[in-house]
Amino acid sequence: MVATPIGNLGDLSPRARETLGQVDLIAAEDTRHTRRLLRHFGIATPLVAFHEHNEREMGAALLHRLMAGEDIALVSDAGTPLISDPGYRLVRAARQAGLRVSPAPGPSALIAALSVAGLPSDRFVFEAFPPRTARQRREWLGAMAAERRTWIFYESSHRIAATLADLCEVVGEARELVVARELTKVHETLLGGAAREVLRQLEEDADQRKGEFVVLVRGAPSSTTDAASGEALRVLNILLADLPLKQAVALAARITGEKKNKLYKLALERPVSPPSP
Ligand code: SAM
Repeated sequence: MVATPIGNLGDLSPRARETLGQVDLIAAEDTRHTRRLLRHFGIATPLVAFHEHNEREMGAALLHRLMAGEDIALVSDAGTPLISDPGYRLVRAARQAGLRVSPAPGPSALIAALSVAGLPSDRFVFEAFPPRTARQRREWLGAMAAERRTWIFYESSHRIAATLADLCEVVGEARELVVARELTKVHETLLGGAAREVLRQLEEDADQRKGEFVVLVRGAPSSTTDAASGEALRVLNILLADLPLKQAVALAARITGEKKNKLYKLALERPVSPPSP
């Protein structure tokens, strides 16, 4: 399983490059796309198409060749195979047949986005692409609204604005989120803040709706601490506008009666406003 760049060719690892050059065959989602990558690195390994429409037949053929002793690399158009890409049935069949399946790990848009979003990253859920129809998407958003962990999904340029508009309505305009666009590419952009604010920026600037997107949404706050934290956060925000963190926390503790370590946590986790251009 060979991960390939999500935009910047410099992200192909030396081991991925070596593996792609050494195997007998490369199974690729889109052979034209992968041929360009191989050409760039001077790799001449034969290619065969393996995608969601021929997964069953081609999977059987690849398994047959693997069992005959060939080495085969699986790549997707970008990032890590099997992550919102085909391949898991082939991996499963290969492992069940006692064949060795080994990763050459590397880029994945989801992990790249999480690493720069500044949202809680200790626990998270990945939801792949949201449903395409508005009704199903809103149902899905309704189910996600109570999720406590950071939730992450992929979205296309055609639907990013509509999905964020639905998110504002169903999950709430104030929910903090980050939209990571065109990661590792020339137009890499991170927009973060309240959902309504991010949507406004996307609606005002057509360029912000172009390219590839990962959306990361902060999990729902726990309802028991919500009311008290809300007041403490309000006081903290006022103080932080004029004071350094330590002083603001000390004063907020005296005003609200909250513990200092809780206030530090609130201060560090409060929504980050987008950096000024
Ligand atoms: N297997 C890939 C991976 O590991 O990231 C994901 C494949 S999925 C079919 C493609 C989606 O990933 C895109 O529609 C977009 O949502 C996201 N994506 C891929 N490259 C990206 C990038 N450079 N910046 C932001 N999102 C990206």
